[in-house]
Amino acid sequence: AVEFDDALAMYRAGVAADPDGVALRYFDGTVTRRELDELTDGLAAGLLADGFAPGDRLAVYLQNVPQFVIAMVAAWKAGGVMVSINPMSRTRELSYLLADSGATVLVCLEHLYDEVARDVVPGTGVRLVLTTSGLDFQTRDDERLFAGVTRQRHEGTTDLLEFIGQHRGQTPPPVELAPDDVAFLTYTSGTTGVPKGAMNTHRNVVFTAQVYRDWVRAGRDGSVFGVAPLFHITGLIGHVAVSMLVPAPLVLAYRFEPQVVLDAFLEHRPTFTIGAITAFSALLNAPGFTKDHFASFTSIYSGGAAISPAAERAFLEATGKQVHNAYGLTETTSPMTVTPFGSPSPVDPTSGALSVGVPAPNTVVRIQDDEGQDLPLGEVGEIVAEGPQVVAGYWGKPEETAANLPGGALRSGDVGFMDPQGWVFIVDRKKDMINASGYKVWPREVEDVLAEHPAVRESAVVGVPDEKRGETVKAYVSLRPGASVTPEELIAHCRERMAAYKYPRSVELIDELPKTVTGKILRRELRGA
Ligand code: ATP
Repeated sequence: AVEFDDALAMYRAGVAADPDGVALRYFDGTVTRRELDELTDGLAAGLLADGFAPGDRLAVYLQNVPQFVIAMVAAWKAGGVMVSINPMSRTRELSYLLADSGATVLVCLEHLYDEVARDVVPGTGVRLVLTTSGLDFQTRDDERLFAGVTRQRHEGTTDLLEFIGQHRGQTPPPVELAPDDVAFLTYTSGTTGVPKGAMNTHRNVVFTAQVYRDWVRAGRDGSVFGVAPLFHITGLIGHVAVSMLVPAPLVLAYRFEPQVVLDAFLEHRPTFTIGAITAFSALLNAPGFTKDHFASFTSIYSGGAAISPAAERAFLEATGKQVHNAYGLTETTSPMTVTPFGSPSPVDPTSGALSVGVPAPNTVVRIQDDEGQDLPLGEVGEIVAEGPQVVAGYWGKPEETAANLPGGALRSGDVGFMDPQGWVFIVDRKKDMINASGYKVWPREVEDVLAEHPAVRESAVVGVPDEKRGETVKAYVSLRPGASVTPEELIAHCRERMAAYKYPRSVELIDELPKTVTGKILRRELRGA
């Protein structure tokens, strides 16, 4: 059962349970639940006085800073919807997202206003721009993080904290939120067409926060550390929403900078986090990393991108901790399948893939063919999900909604299978399949084999055009610090371990694989390379 009708009620229950407890930690600064409540009351009252109305959209274009959570709660208190925008977005992307969502308020970092938003806002429906710097709420001056982060006022903008100050002490009138109202719009990254705004409802948010609390054991014995970016659904639920529900302190560190994150682990001793395995791998490979950095964690999850059995083992060896795997999409408000805490995922003996878990509670996962027919257990097909976390649709996009969410079930675009015990395995994303002379090659399988080579840090396998075979298999590989291996040796390593049509015909060594901020490898960039 969903414990609260809406995410605001969930947040309020946390405040009532522990008003003097810490809601947010940001370097040497803290915000208590009571303080957070006062700040968000002030902001909501100010927004309403400024003409913000129920259902209006407030866009957040921020790094992992306390103001992110303040803006989100205030949007709800004013009866509105938060629109989550990737802080890496540049002019074209930002103008699309503001226009598509119809946002009337923009909360953004001062330097992002200066560099990007200033040129974009005049052509959109944004009436009020509230700016803030990453420096508020703490006193550190960290060159590694804050180089280029400014405190400067710009014409046409209002300082967020001053705006709140003007309305401090005011209580916004109670709002009516319903379970099916949209809590936030989260945009797909657009690797499959134009970005679509997934409408994550209040029911979606409360339900998935419960999954994190009950199945993942997030924050129940300490604090939640924000490794993932907050704008992404993993951060919104696995960091923000669950910390409200438990309630537990949420530790934020501006953005993912490995050395800064490792320092913050030692300073704050968090007990839970979730991130992409690529982010964890960056921490393990950072200079000065020791096991002690992870000593305080009681629960660690990998999600948002594939993790190979070899990477799972390497994480255990380096940190002494078992990382659990969870799988979800923006459209499933984060978790669709979860490895229940304490029961490590099995590895499929045939494909060698690590399971992404079992369906979350009240969730039905089916494996279907292209016509939408259910396939027998064990067969490979598209993963389709129904449950309380599946979004109602895409904002303003009925055609895309009908295509990807027919009858309310989500067609994930991922290909996988389920074993007789209900463990789900992902083979790959449908669109990443390589067709070599009619043979289907799934990049994931080749990457998992490459990961078993001791010199390999990360790899990405793509199809490249080939005159004879149509497409041929190519691997881009980055190596562990100090390791050395030739492309020929890596090709031989794969050839010994897989069918002749699968092993990579060429290997290119590169320093760093191109990635999204959420740690997903940008295969399309490699294909075009
Ligand atoms: P777009 O839909 O525009 O391509 P996106 O891929 O960034 O955007 P997200 O919702 O962020 O959209 O990512 C969801 C995808 O991430 C899933 O469809 C799946 O391919 C991948 N993924 C998430 N978790 C896992 C996991 N544990 N193992 C393997 N893949 C995962």
